[in-house]
This record gives sequence, structure tokens and C-alpha cells, in this order.
Amino acid sequence: MLISRIADLLMPCECPVCGAPADAGGALCAGCLLEMPRLPLYDRAESAELAILANAVCPPSFIAAWMLYDPFRPHAEMIRTSKYRGRPGLARRLGALFAAEFADTYPEAAARPDVLIPVPMYWRKELTRGYNQAVCIAHGIGNVLGVPVADNLVAVRPHATQTRRSAQQRRANIEGIFSVLHPSDFDGLDVVIVDDVITTGATIGEVAIALGRAGARPASVGAMALGMAGGER
Ligand SMILES: [Zn+2]
Repeated sequence: MLISRIADLLMPCECPVCGAPADAGGALCAGCLLEMPRLPLYDRAESAELAILANAVCPPSFIAAWMLYDPFRPHAEMIRTSKYRGRPGLARRLGALFAAEFADTYPEAAARPDVLIPVPMYWRKELTRGYNQAVCIAHGIGNVLGVPVADNLVAVRPHATQTRRSAQQRRANIEGIFSVLHPSDFDGLDVVIVDDVITTGATIGEVAIALGRAGARPASVGAMALGMAGGER
């Protein structure tokens, strides 16, 4: 497992969707990159279209999600592989590829974030998995956009998987789970929460609540994800 992780960090591998050589940023093959079920940038002006976040306690000012995550479609495999199969380098390269495309398509939005906040994982889970894919994705995005990645949001307790839970159950499951260590670090900044998949918005909503509860006063809170709907964490 350790050797495969090191190899993954050092060299591009095969496309996680189809197995062909990953020639697009070392993350995907060109064909699978082209065929990705992309999503547009959602901002508050289009909030009617943000049905997926209707249950978020604190909706962010914009959502940038690369693709619609459907667990039964081939592209779901790139999320699963980067998350469960010891591929932190893949997660980082996917983040970089996403950010490059995002900056090209939405240069104004890409220039907005001052800091990226990856959704943290409880330390015991991160120790078992060996990495937090949201952190890897955030570093890939941050490298391309030239934005630092915060490390002062922590998960203070473990939580059960969000899979197969209703929106209400998801909120209850993660309520109070996040804590901000130095809240004033975020004052006046445009902060963007980064996760691999946004399902009901309960997790990113909880991060936003934790920022407020700690007394942080960010100028705005946005969200970026590699996938979007039907996710699991
Ligand atoms: Zn492919």
C-alpha cells in the first residue's frame, strides 16, 4: 500500500475511468476528460438551480463543482479511486486539472478566493486512510490558482458515514463536528471550502457554521468540489 502511494505521488498512472494512459495532467485520459458530465458555476443569482443545496443550513455564495457525481456512471470511478484506493497523488492532480479548467472558463470566479479550506477528517480516519482526499484536492487547486490551503479547521470527533442518510440525518450526524483553531485568520477573506463531493450541502454548511461559531468574519464563503451529487463521505 505504501509503495503504491509513493508511486502514485511520483508518476502519472492510468486513467481511473477507462484504464488508458492518463495523458491529461496525469489524471485522466483525454477522452474521459472530454466526456465528463460537467456542471456550470452556480452562484447566488442562480440559487433556484441549487436544489441540491436546498437543505444546507448556510448556503455558500457560490458552488463550483466539476461534474455531476453519479455512482453508477463511469466517471464516479475517479472519485472512488482517489479516495479509497491509496491515490493521494491522483486526488491532487484531479484538483489541479479542475482548477486549470475552472480558471480558464471562469477567470473572475477563480480570482476570488484568498484561502482554501479542505473539509477535515477525524485524525483516526485520516491515519487509517493515510491521507485526506479533500486536502490533496485543495493543494492541487491551490497550486494552480496560487491560493494557500488552510490547516486550522479540524474535526473534533468521528462521525458515521453519510451514505444512505437523509438530509436531516446528515445534518444531525455532523452537527458540531468542526472546530476552527485561529478564527481571526479568516477575517475579511474570501474563503472557499473544498471537498470531493457535495451531496446535500450539510457538510459544507457545517463548516460555514463552525466559522461563524468561532467568531471568524470571512468576507464570503464559497465551495469547490470534484463531484457534486449523490456522494458519500
Ligand atoms: Zn479514460
